This record gives sequence, C-alpha cells and structure tokens, in this order.
Amino acid sequence: MEKVNCLIIGSGPAGYTAAIYASRAGLNPVLYQGIQPGGQLTITTEVENYPGYPDGIQGPEMMVHFENQAKRMGADIRYGLATKVDFSTQPFKVQIDEETWIEANAVIISTGASAKWLGLESEQRLNGYGVSACAVCDGFFFKGKEVAIVGAGDTAAEEALYLSKICSVVHMIVRKGEMRASKVMQERVLATANIKVYWHSETDEVLGDKKVEAVRIKNNQSGQKQEVAVSAFFVAIGHKPNSDIFKEWIDMDEAGYNERKGITLI
Ligand SMILES: Cc1cc2nc3c(=O)[nH]c(=O)nc-3n(C[C@H](O)[C@H](O)[C@H](O)COP(=O)(O)OP(=O)(O)OC[C@H]3O[C@@H](n4cnc5c(N)ncnc54)[C@H](O)[C@@H]3O)c2cc1C
Repeated sequence: MEKVNCLIIGSGPAGYTAAIYASRAGLNPVLYQGIQPGGQLTITTEVENYPGYPDGIQGPEMMVHFENQAKRMGADIRYGLATKVDFSTQPFKVQIDEETWIEANAVIISTGASAKWLGLESEQRLNGYGVSACAVCDGFFFKGKEVAIVGAGDTAAEEALYLSKICSVVHMIVRKGEMRASKVMQERVLATANIKVYWHSETDEVLGDKKVEAVRIKNNQSGQKQEVAVSAFFVAIGHKPNSDIFKEWIDMDEAGYNERKGITLI
C-alpha cells in the first residue's frame, strides 16, 4: 500500500491553498481532485472579489492559477475520488476510486459543498448567465436591476437583504405562507421596501435565451402563473456538504457539516 505523509482531499480553493502551505512546510502533500477539479468556481464566470485580480478573472482560469501554484510548490496533484476512509488508526487509510487504498499520516478534508438547485432545465442552462447560487458573489453584476431569489431560510433572507442594497427590486419567491428564517431576519425582509415577497409560490421556469430575462412564478394556491422581468435569478435553498464518506469518523450536525466548522486537520 502506498504511504504518503499528507493527503489532501479536494481541489477547490481550500484544497489548493492547503497544498501550497503543506508543500512549503515540507510535508510533501498528495492531493486528489475529485470529480470537480478546481471546485465550484469552475462553474462560474467572472470572479471579482478575489484580491490580486484587479480586473476580475474567470473562475476556471483562476483555479488553473491555484493548481499551477500548488504544483510549483511541489504538491503531487492527482485525478481521483476518495470513496471510503478508515480513520480508526493512524496512519489513516483512504480509498481512491473504489480500488486503491493509501495510507497517510495526516488527512486534510477540503471537499467543499454543492449548492442545492431546484432541478429546472432552464436553471442549469442559464447557470452563470444570470442564474447563480451565490448572491454575495454575483449580486454586484446586477446593480440597479430587478432580480429574483428563491428560498425562505436564513441564508435566503440574508441574501435578499444583501441584494436589496444593490438591486432596484428583489422578487423573493417563498413556497409557504411563512419563512423558515428566524423571526428577526423575516422582519428585516418584510420591512425592506424593495423586497417583494411572493408567498405560497414556486418557480415555474427561468426565462431567457442566452441570459436570464424573466422568471415565471406559480402561485400554489390559485395555480395562477405570472412572468416577472428580472436580470438575475438567485437560488438560495441551501448547500449539501460533500461529507458523506466521513460521517462515521467525524462529528457532524444533521446537515453533514463538521461540528467544528471549516477545514479539519486530523
Ligand atoms: C456559481 C458559483 C459562483 C460563485 N462565485 C463566487 C465568487 O464570485 N466569489 C466567491 O468568493 N465565491 C464564489 N462562489 C463560492 C465559491 O465557489 C466557494 O466558496 C468555494 O469554491 C469553496 O471552496 P472549497 O475549496 O471549500 O470547495 P469547493 O470549491 O466546493 O471544492 C470542493 C472540491 O472537493 C472535491 N471533492 C469533493 N468530494 C471529494 C471526494 N470524495 N474525493 C476527492 N475530492 C472531492 C471536488 O471535486 C472539488 O474539487 C461561487 C459558487 C458558485 C457555485
């Protein structure tokens, strides 16, 4: 069985950053990229909030920079998915692609999370062209425009409030007659003049050919549909952490987040 000193699982910004630091510390890290080399930023277009890129940068290009930097520091970057782990004794064991086991003195888990989507074809087709799962990342591109957001939890409320400061009108689509968000967040949303809440409603379709132009909202009680012209459609219905294979070994909350939050150094 191959034995490595430091094994990093995941190749998003966290994984590559860990690889850069571990390499410079002389830990000879081996990094497995998983099914999405470069992580979530490879499915977005422009990234504007990362220091060091004064003119912004395309997400996939930025992640190539991360990878190249990690490689230059000496990290061993490999294709492959961690499919099972055994953390019962040290060195820890990690199975790659359901066949090869590797032993490691230390494992850094940086498997990120995946945004939950509604599952509409139009939502996937227009992803990066007005459809986004991150208002804080992409809201700025729609300054002064009307936008829609779907979701009813604390994150959705927070993102709606964030958007309300940038955009002219925020159309908020809420499935039930109340929000899951905490009372204080709900009150803030309802007190914000340019957030219009559509209760008992769901997204029927995101409309647009090459970019988002409107959203069709369906009222679940009356069955009535209406089209609202918007430039962006934000999905804020939660994330799912990619942590299933670690469940047996690490304390997690119900959603699958590490109770201690952040990167886990084992
Ligand atoms: C559409 C979109 C646009 C965004 N825009 C911005 C933006 O403009 N600015 C900004 O700051 N943030 C933005 N974000 C958020 C940003 O992408 C995330 O905060 C960031 O990618 C998280 O980095 P991470 O390294 O923790 O995880 P991720 O990027 O989620 O990467 C996780 C990595 O783990 C790997 N992995 C998962 N499971 C396994 C496994 N079992 N074995 C091996 N590897 C595995 C995956 O292949 C992936 O490489 C955006 C997100 C999305 C979805």
